[in-house]
Amino acid sequence: MKIAILGAMPEEIEPLLANLDAKKIDYANNEFYLAKFGAHELIIAYSKIGKVNSTLTATLMIEKFGAEKLIFTGVAGALKEGLKIGEILYATRLVQHDLDITAFGHPHGFVPGSPIFVDTDANLNEIAQRAARELGLNLKSGIIASGDQFVCDEARKAWIGAEFDASAVEMEGASVAQVCHALNVPFCVLRAISDEAGNKAEFDFDEFVVKSAKISANLALKMVELL
Ligand code: SAH
Repeated sequence: MKIAILGAMPEEIEPLLANLDAKKIDYANNEFYLAKFGAHELIIAYSKIGKVNSTLTATLMIEKFGAEKLIFTGVAGALKEGLKIGEILYATRLVQHDLDITAFGHPHGFVPGSPIFVDTDANLNEIAQRAARELGLNLKSGIIASGDQFVCDEARKAWIGAEFDASAVEMEGASVAQVCHALNVPFCVLRAISDEAGNKAEFDFDEFVVKSAKISANLALKMVELL
């Protein structure tokens, strides 16, 4: 099977590439890495940060490189008390917190023709849980909200958490979800916590991004082993 593993930043896919003998292809101002892993063919890339970049890369992974399933791996800010730096969750569903045509009476996150929330694939989520058990990881789950904004503000954090009942915030998952939903490709989103999205979150992010990204990447690779 052809499986895409997508991150947003180099730190999020470097732990994967370190374990693989991958061939690099340059395309559309992006680097795609092709590698064999057991019976599977992997397509690995980092999209660059944000919803537009991740939309482009996810689409190319599916339409140009033929990915049949997609695993997103990366880091996120925690919105809920119980979720700490270094912990990891999978998204049950994803929403764009910054999509706003509420002036027309629509709810936050809604535009006509697209669902507000996109559900992740139940089968992949179950494999993620099995993989986590094998690694001795306590894998949590929850709604993930995405937007083109690094959230490092208590009020914004509280609003996103309350409006969408979201557990974590990041900048790519919901756009990747829309792509996979539209193209009928099963996908899941793994995010290890790098910060708590409140005031000065950027300092925690800088300190923990590499360590947390690695936790998520290891889980993604373990999932591929079980697929
Ligand atoms: N340090 C980087 C910018 C990181 S932006 C640079 O200078 O280039 C944060 C990245 O991590 C995004 O890809 C996003 O998906 C994720 N992320 C982690 N914590 C986040 C938060 N609090 N708010 C939004 N995105 C967050």
